[in-house]
Amino acid sequence: MREAIGQVLLSADRIAARVHELGEQISSDLKAIADDAEIVIVPILTGSIVFVADLIRQIPLKVRIDVVTVSSYPRAAKESVGAQIVGTLPADLAGKHVLIVDDILDSGGTIKLIREAICDRGAASVRFCVLLRKTIPSALETPCEYVGFDIPDEFVVGYGLDYDNYYRNLPDVAMLREDEA
Ligand code: 5GP
Ligand code: MG
Repeated sequence: MREAIGQVLLSADRIAARVHELGEQISSDLKAIADDAEIVIVPILTGSIVFVADLIRQIPLKVRIDVVTVSSYPRAAKESVGAQIVGTLPADLAGKHVLIVDDILDSGGTIKLIREAICDRGAASVRFCVLLRKTIPSALETPCEYVGFDIPDEFVVGYGLDYDNYYRNLPDVAMLREDEA
């Protein structure tokens, strides 16, 4: 796997330190507005799996976890074709404080789609947390409550992010080598 990987943008250690900070911030914010059993964390599959696994262990509150699947990249694609919900949204979100977790904010299509859908379900509050945000206007202009890192407009893999469903298990966030993609 390593031969395909180019420049490392974020090492596993840097990511871990930032995830710890995000967990503390989110816990303190949620504690201030929500009572026990009112919080639902909604990971967006598949890219958020590694991030959310680390993040939820930094949130020592009673939370429900309920996933949603969003597809925007068909197989070996590096350009989004527009976000679509696959399957169903979590049930029973009315009156809940919902934290949605995604890997990366790019066009903003995913956040827009999911925020609307979850607000429509009558959630008491909806917040988004992404590990990465590309420094492009579409991403910077999309409201997002918690952002781990701002990164250049490059296609990245690792720490849950894939290319054609590979490289999710890389512990760092890195660029692919030019000849790989
Ligand atoms: P948006 O809907 O904001 O355009 O994009 C969000 C989704 O696109 C992310 O959840 C992720 O699945 C995918 N995506 C956007 N940029 C990248 C990237 O650089 N690398 C990978 N692997 N996926 C990306
Ligand atoms: Mg995604």
